[in-house]
Amino acid sequence: MIRTKAELEAQERTTLAPWAQKSGDSAGRSHPEPSHPNRTEYQRDRARIIHSRAFRRLEYKTQVFLNGTGDHLRTRLTHTFEVANITRTIARSLALNEDLAETIALAHDLGHPPFGHTGEETLDALMRAHGGFDHNAQSLRIVDVVETRYPKFPGLNLSHEVREGLQKHAKFYQGTKGAAHPQPSIEAQIANLADEITYYSHDLDDGLDFELLEPMQLAELVVWKESEADVRRDFPRLKGREFRAYVIRCIIDRQVADVVQTSAALIEKSGVQSADDVRRYPRPLIAYSKPLLKANQQLRRFLYANLYYHPRVAGANTRACERLGDVFKAYLKKPSLLGGATSRRIKADGLHRTVCDYISGMTDRYLLDEHERLFPSV
Ligand code: MG
Repeated sequence: MIRTKAELEAQERTTLAPWAQKSGDSAGRSHPEPSHPNRTEYQRDRARIIHSRAFRRLEYKTQVFLNGTGDHLRTRLTHTFEVANITRTIARSLALNEDLAETIALAHDLGHPPFGHTGEETLDALMRAHGGFDHNAQSLRIVDVVETRYPKFPGLNLSHEVREGLQKHAKFYQGTKGAAHPQPSIEAQIANLADEITYYSHDLDDGLDFELLEPMQLAELVVWKESEADVRRDFPRLKGREFRAYVIRCIIDRQVADVVQTSAALIEKSGVQSADDVRRYPRPLIAYSKPLLKANQQLRRFLYANLYYHPRVAGANTRACERLGDVFKAYLKKPSLLGGATSRRIKADGLHRTVCDYISGMTDRYLLDEHERLFPSV
């Protein structure tokens, strides 16, 4: 038995909620393509992302800790898989389109430069007079322009709904006929929130694992306290690393359960009846409950105060970013260093944007090697 695309689309119509984005209702691609016999449009988009070079490079890019610092610390790639997994759980629980939500999650960090947020700030400063740099905008630029895999069009020619989902933090989301909406699809909203759930929990985990955070420090955090109480109740003898790992597991479970419950109630109350009603609705329908929102804001402040700028994190990232600046300036001075395929874009995109695209695509280690090549240490 081989299932056809038409059968898969029909199945979505009978099994998904009325407000889910159906792949058969996709607004299509910028460059029209013949459809695939047994894959939906979002399944194809997911494959295009996974097979892209930008996706493979995520393995060697910093999430919080400089890549290579420790074998168990998250990289951009493992972060992305965790986001995709949480996204799928929420989407499936709410009868929404898992393929679309997962695809957006897999692509959400493609635009991240080397060296994490410090790298992003450095590039943004270097690009200040030339349009700046933002990793969300860059994710879209990668799938639209930078990746070259197909002979008939630039980029990956993704469907409208996946591209919409990558316009994170946009004021308005562009519709197909020029109409702008305050919200993206409900599937994109899931990927946005799943990103937060993921990094809150794994940054705590990595911080503890790498001994930059002490369990004692966490005693005042509501998010930690509630899950810690669950674990002490269910497994009173658990200690050390096993205890901490299970608390993290419970934090994720509580967050996901809260979002599923809260969002189901919000959807019901909103009265939305279609995917476009979701887009026109003034507020997101995927959300934390008020108490969890408050607890997560406290966690966020804690991570900023105690982890992201910890000398052992920030010191390594700052030194790496100085090298990023050196390489950037070296390319500006001598564009011939960029190589054939990249330098051909200078005419259309300008020298600064071309250099910025090239550097932001680099992995941590490639940039450090390139620095060594351009500025050999004695
Ligand atoms: Mg992310």
